[in-house]
Amino acid sequence: MNIKISQIANLPSRFGNFKVKAFKEAAADGCKEHLVIYKENLEEVPVVRVHSECLTGDAIGSLKCDCRDQLEYALKLAEKTNGMVIYLRQEGRNIGLLNKINAYALQDEGLNTVEANHQLGFEADERTYEVVTFILHHFNIHKIKLLTNNPNKVNSISDIDIVERVPIIMDSNEYNKSYLDVKKDEMGHLL
Ligand SMILES: [Zn+2]
Repeated sequence: MNIKISQIANLPSRFGNFKVKAFKEAAADGCKEHLVIYKENLEEVPVVRVHSECLTGDAIGSLKCDCRDQLEYALKLAEKTNGMVIYLRQEGRNIGLLNKINAYALQDEGLNTVEANHQLGFEADERTYEVVTFILHHFNIHKIKLLTNNPNKVNSISDIDIVERVPIIMDSNEYNKSYLDVKKDEMGHLL
């Protein structure tokens, strides 16, 4: 993998005082710059959250999904348990922001998140996790507890011993209830 790695910097945040390190990955569809947020005194088997970028949720506070709630929960838990959040820049389950907004437009017409992706010619989930293995090995981490509801993620992260799956269940709202139902019923999430 062609990956450039930044220096380590301090990141005081509203969720705790973290260290951060960036990983710039040259991918077929352009560069992706990922961020690792972690505590200096990492646990030997840390709780790790692998969070995929969701601009509309993480930054804008969209109620169509549960991404921001999950991100905030993960950062607070990292602070509390000396863990790590790996923020992956694979927007919209890796179809990119423009395609995601087109998928939202189709959802406005009544399609669900999976149907909308299919109509645009994508799989329901286009994410990959090779870089996660690279990042964890870089930190000399071989065993983790993975904070996720997604069994596919547990199976997709290779060469890392996932000793435990820690659930991350958020309250639903009137806008994301059907989205969460699709995640549960069609994408196998354990909600
Ligand atoms: Zn989201």
